[in-house]
Amino acid sequence: MTPLAKLLSRRIAATGPITVAEFMGECLLHPEHGYYSTRDPFGAAGDFTTAPEISQMFGELLGLWLAQVWLDQGAPARVTLAELGPGRGTLMADILRATKALPGFHDAAHVHLVEASPALRAVQRQTLDGHDITWLDRPEDLPDAPLLLVANEFFDALPIRQFQRDPAGWRERQVGIVDDHLGFGLSAPAPLAQLDHRLDDTAPGDLVETCPAAQPIMAEVARRIAIHGGAALIADYGGWRSYGDTLQAVRQHRPEPPLDNPGAADLTAHVDFEALAKAATDVRVSAMTAQGVFLERLGITQRAQILARGMTGAALESHIAAHRRLTHPQEMGTLFKILALTPKGSPPPPGADP
Ligand code: SAH
Repeated sequence: MTPLAKLLSRRIAATGPITVAEFMGECLLHPEHGYYSTRDPFGAAGDFTTAPEISQMFGELLGLWLAQVWLDQGAPARVTLAELGPGRGTLMADILRATKALPGFHDAAHVHLVEASPALRAVQRQTLDGHDITWLDRPEDLPDAPLLLVANEFFDALPIRQFQRDPAGWRERQVGIVDDHLGFGLSAPAPLAQLDHRLDDTAPGDLVETCPAAQPIMAEVARRIAIHGGAALIADYGGWRSYGDTLQAVRQHRPEPPLDNPGAADLTAHVDFEALAKAATDVRVSAMTAQGVFLERLGITQRAQILARGMTGAALESHIAAHRRLTHPQEMGTLFKILALTPKGSPPPPGADP
């Protein structure tokens, strides 16, 4: 049993089952035993890898996207260049390198990173050495200025609640003690106004998920873009409208049952892009767009060809594999999606379906 499993078991024995969201929140961000609080989980030696860790092309293209939006909005003299959940800081480093040559952009951009994990803040500090960075706990603390924001695989790490439809309403999935081990159970059924809109497209026995923390974060980001201008680009895995159990644990690049190693495995869930889009009011919200299509439209193939010129052997092979991994429909190309937020009335942002 992991130390966090012991702690949670004692707590559940004393005060009863906890929701999946409480479980996920503790597993990821418990101050002493949380997965992100205690380690750098990325890369081949870690537990999983993400688009910016796969290839520099991802961050470069996102950087150019942000630069184009900045130019389209009249190149404001001061902008907040922000990232939610920056991991190792690789994406921001690639964004900054790709935009270095654009006159005025680095002078205008003040980098703000919203990061909950002290361990990862330290890694980001190293990756972004030489840049002036401000760290924040919450997006509410961002400065009042035009906002250029990216978030890659941030929303999939926010705790989800799970509800199983029942003839008498909804039963919430909980984590309790079953045969001396952590195990799943269900609360008593009750009607839930928040899920009334799911009564039409579900049947008893079906499971849906909600992500309570995502909605206020999206609303806050959209509010700032509506008032001050700018844009947000959300990239993540998931789909339009949650359906079914998508809670997933990954350790050393292999999936495992989510209750097996609390605090020692990464836990994520599919992002419900419909819920994100709905929370973003008073801005233009793009259609949810497949990541592969988006990156192709931004010119990933041309960029890949230019980079390939200087490569041979194993480096070239792995570069070709990285391009394929980011864009191919059977890899990250269609499971991963992007959503773009821009002010109403501004030009449509590049690459995203309108
Ligand atoms: N964007 C990075 C990392 C994704 S992992 C990449 O693509 O490689 C998720 C990141 O979000 C980690 O940096 C994690 O510490 C951070 N995170 C998770 N929950 C958070 C929260 N509630 N507030 C701020 N950061 C959070």
